[in-house]
Amino acid sequence: MKVFFVGAGPGNPELLTVRAHRLLSHCEICIYAGSLVSPEVVALAPAGADLYDSAEMTLEEMEVVFRQAQLRGVDLIRLHTGDPAIYGAIREQMNSLDRLGIDYEVIPGISSFQAAAATLKTELTAPEVSQTIILSRTSGRTPMPEQEELEQLAKTRSTLCLFLSVHKIGEVAGELAPWYGADCPAAVVFHASWPDEKVVRGTLADIALKVEQEQIRKTAMIIVGQALARDIPVSRLYHRSFSHGYRRGDER
Ligand code: SAH
Repeated sequence: MKVFFVGAGPGNPELLTVRAHRLLSHCEICIYAGSLVSPEVVALAPAGADLYDSAEMTLEEMEVVFRQAQLRGVDLIRLHTGDPAIYGAIREQMNSLDRLGIDYEVIPGISSFQAAAATLKTELTAPEVSQTIILSRTSGRTPMPEQEELEQLAKTRSTLCLFLSVHKIGEVAGELAPWYGADCPAAVVFHASWPDEKVVRGTLADIALKVEQEQIRKTAMIIVGQALARDIPVSRLYHRSFSHGYRRGDER
């Protein structure tokens, strides 16, 4: 018997991995993050499966379900939105499983920052402009470590993907503008890959107002950086003088 931490991807069931799809469609017990995992993905579980919404559970209550699965000798699917390794709070669940002597495995998923980039049809890295992507958030119930305050990250002028922060978009844009410039491209994608997906594009100067007009307050990805601009330098990867040997290798 095993617990599978499964990445549910951003929402569209076609963005599940083959492995996640197979595990989910044969599962008998599933604990899913009801506030975030799309109903279309949860619906892949068989009709008779025991489904639990983790949004209404404490860790202790989850442990009870883990133990029941252990006694029945039945695998349990722990379904997390996007990729379980990003803001999934999986470590504390793994510690419980370690105590209970239950084995577990992680099935990665497409994260919402990737789905948002796909929706925007953008590359998050741009030659000479930004070769670093920062995945972060602003403080909420979880405080930010001081060295990771937004201002510290902004100093790098890397491409920033901010989770869990759209409700603070005004504050975020205000803090980033002195470092990135008020005219720096910024975008917000609500429910990337869902049927009700919304996209807002702008600059740090006007993105907050546009997001407010669209009434987006949660489940959205903020992406900021010059990499989102269209007129970035051309990469050398496809340049005539770039040798084929390099093209085949990993280093560009
Ligand atoms: N593990 C998840 C992140 C969980 S934290 C992942 O890898 O994507 C929850 C935050 O993820 C939300 O506040 C939002 O910022 C982002 N998010 C999750 N699903 C999203 C989606 N479909 N579109 C845009 N943002 C999403």
